Amino acid sequence: MQEIIRQLLAELGEDPTREGLLNTPKRVEKALNFLTSGYNMDIDEVLNDALFTVDYSEMVIVKDIDFYSLCEHHLLPFFGKCHVAYIPQQKVIGLSKIPRLVEMFARRLQIQERLTSQIADTIREKIRPLGVAVVVEATHLCMSMRGVEKQNSFAVTSSMLGAFRDSARTRMEFLELIKLRSGARTPADLVESDCLLDK
Ligand SMILES: [Zn+2]
Repeated sequence: MQEIIRQLLAELGEDPTREGLLNTPKRVEKALNFLTSGYNMDIDEVLNDALFTVDYSEMVIVKDIDFYSLCEHHLLPFFGKCHVAYIPQQKVIGLSKIPRLVEMFARRLQIQERLTSQIADTIREKIRPLGVAVVVEATHLCMSMRGVEKQNSFAVTSSMLGAFRDSARTRMEFLELIKLRSGARTPADLVESDCLLDK
C-alpha cells in the first residue's frame, strides 16, 4: 500500500521524498488499516458469550454511541452518534457489545444508510427481539469540506423494525428518549443523506 500512497502524493503534485512526507505512506497505511479494521471483525466473535436469556421485555436503549466511518464515495470521514434500542423477546445482548457492533460496521467503507440498517439487521438476526430501532446522526466531511450545500452535511437515518415500525407509540417513546440533535420528531421528519446521491 505504501508504494501506491507515494504515487498518490506525486500525483497530487507533491514530492514524496521531502522530509515531512517520508514517513507519510507508512502512517497512512497504518491509519487506513485501522479505519477499515471492521472488515476483519467477525460478528460472532464480537458478541461472543454476551447473549443472555432473560425474562425481560422492556425497551433496552444504548444512546449517544460515538462512531467514525469513511464514506465510500469520497473516502472521507463521516462521524456522529448512533442510538440503538430493542425490545427483547427472550435474549439480550451484553450492553458493552452494542458499541462494539456499531464499531465493527463503522470501520469499513460505508454509506450512512447501510451502516444504520446493518446494525439493526444484525441485532434482529442475533436475538430475534420484538423490535429494533437504530438512529444515526452524522456530519459528512465530504459535503462540508467540499463546500457542497453545507446545510446537507448533517444527516439523520433510521431503521425501525418490528414493534418500532408497527407501533407509533413505541417509536415515539424511543425518539423522545434519544432527543435528536436535528430536532426531528418522527422518522418522516428525518433528513436524507445527500452523500448517497452525490456520486
Ligand atoms: Zn461522500
